Amino acid sequence: MSKELFPAANSAQRLGVPAPVLNTTKAPLQRGRSLMDWIRLSKSNVDLRGTGPRPLKISMEELAKHNTHDDAWMAIRGYVFNVTRYMEYHPGGESELMRGVGKDATSLFEEVHRWVNFESMLKACFIGTLIPDFTTPRQPKSTSSLLSVPGNNLLKLPRSGKIGGLQYFNVGFKQTEEEVIILFRSDSFETSVENFVCNISDDGLSMHVDFISHMQSLSYFITLHKQVKESISVVKKEVIEIVLKKAEPGSLWDGFGSCKHTQPFKNRLLSCTLISKSNITHNTLQLHFRLPESCHMLTPMGAHVFFQASIEDISIRRPYTVALPCITESTCANDSNNFYTLIKVYETGALTKVIGNLSPGDEISVATFEIKFHLGLISSFSNILLLAAGTGFTPMVRVLHHCLFNTDKKVQLGFFNKKELDILWRNDLETLKSRFDSRFTVDHVLSQPDQDWSGLKGRVSIPLLKEMLSNFQIDTTFVLVCGPSPFTTLTLKFLSDMKVKSSSVFAFT
Ligand code: FAD
Ligand code: NAD
Repeated sequence: MSKELFPAANSAQRLGVPAPVLNTTKAPLQRGRSLMDWIRLSKSNVDLRGTGPRPLKISMEELAKHNTHDDAWMAIRGYVFNVTRYMEYHPGGESELMRGVGKDATSLFEEVHRWVNFESMLKACFIGTLIPDFTTPRQPKSTSSLLSVPGNNLLKLPRSGKIGGLQYFNVGFKQTEEEVIILFRSDSFETSVENFVCNISDDGLSMHVDFISHMQSLSYFITLHKQVKESISVVKKEVIEIVLKKAEPGSLWDGFGSCKHTQPFKNRLLSCTLISKSNITHNTLQLHFRLPESCHMLTPMGAHVFFQASIEDISIRRPYTVALPCITESTCANDSNNFYTLIKVYETGALTKVIGNLSPGDEISVATFEIKFHLGLISSFSNILLLAAGTGFTPMVRVLHHCLFNTDKKVQLGFFNKKELDILWRNDLETLKSRFDSRFTVDHVLSQPDQDWSGLKGRVSIPLLKEMLSNFQIDTTFVLVCGPSPFTTLTLKFLSDMKVKSSSVFAFT
């Protein structure tokens, strides 16, 4: 790409003014209003409830009265909080929080950040429980189906079912004297072993099986007929096969036990051990975690898990993308017991400080993954433009690796960082560039470059995006975007202004 064009003649950078910043879902917090500051305030003796120590029973009518900035109550999943003092600590900004004030904000909360541990974060301003309002439509009653399979060892599965619009799996089993194999089949799901998480209970008598996809997630609880050992493996043949080792080999079971579909779906917590950590830049670590033997979790491309830790008795949970051990080798991969992350440690960060202080051998709670992206989105496109800012590169890692090593797609990475020293895996990107010469290009764009930087400067802009897209035909190009929310919002706006179809764009948000 030609560097002379930038900054473009009429661009913000050339004019010496910052690029426009749109309203975003993350508002800059004032000094002293970080998550750690909120934790400190929660732990102080300041009364954040204003309603006395006894939990109240609160009607919808009462809740609706507390709908102002200075008197703000909010209900989430049946619990009511006085969020008046939390207002200025809310990372999404006060106006965003005000949208849920005086209301049952459950659906708003589920939509925006259902993974946040609000019970713990807002414990100090919990004031009571919501009296359900039966005049408003209620959630459909949770359906649970019991799919137990007769006691034979034949692979004969009934067809999978559909209840209340949701697709379900059917469950069967086969066995040898040493192993019992539980079979999951769905006629409608594109099932892959990557979408399954299974873990055996400590006593070896039960097992959770979760199927997590970009469309729908389902949970099953299996009570096993007899005890199994802690090892587990999963293979995909015609159906998904979960292979368990009998604790007492040498006999045949009458059945595998029983299987219950459980609702609602919850990301299950697994205890993971840090195996190794290494610095890949001055502030970003590569971390290798191992799951227990009794677990199988292969995360799909673009998925993130959630790390959780208790900080001053408040449980904090944040999403982190599952990356790769490296990008330069075709064999680089996670397996069903090991996964790799790239995590930037912020000086004032609540959770990254905890993660940064972990030593090999330490354990941390990791909630199972969530996924919005799927490969089907990009499969028919011959060109892929990756627009990544800072650690927004992490969900691009596996997409980039896949496109280069497993397809003949052309890939261009527009990588936006503050300084040269912030660029993740810079040398490895150079290695890929020389190896995939005509198929891979990288443009580094720095927003706070040192004086000797001769490359692209500034933030994302239309001229910059036009130039990056000029190498590709627009209708055969798919664009992936990820970075700080203002970067993503701005990039999506620019792409839309440039008439790039929204069906050819995906943003990790
Ligand atoms: P916090 O305590 O939340 O603060 C972080 C820093 O930002 C601090 O300096 C704080 O002062 C500042 N800050 C916080 N809120 C605001 C605000 N509203 N405005 C301005 N400044 C603010 N990160 C990675 O490093 N690697 C990943 O792979 C990764 N994957 C992610 C995947 C997803 C889907 C998402 C949504 C985020 C991902 N993140 C990733 C970011 C990660 O989840 C955390 O947000 C990040 O690590 C900060 O967490 P923290 O608790 O340490 O920091
Ligand atoms: P950073 O602060 O180092 O910024 C990197 C670049 O982003 C900057 O150089 C600039 O080009 C651009 N940028 C920053 N603020 C901007 C603004 N207001 N307008 C336009 N461009 C702007 O980034 P970081 O500390 O590495 O943070 C990475 C972000 O990516 C975090 O917010 C994290 O939550 C997010 N992230 C999201 C996912 C996901 O899947 N959704 C995954 C990983 C990271």
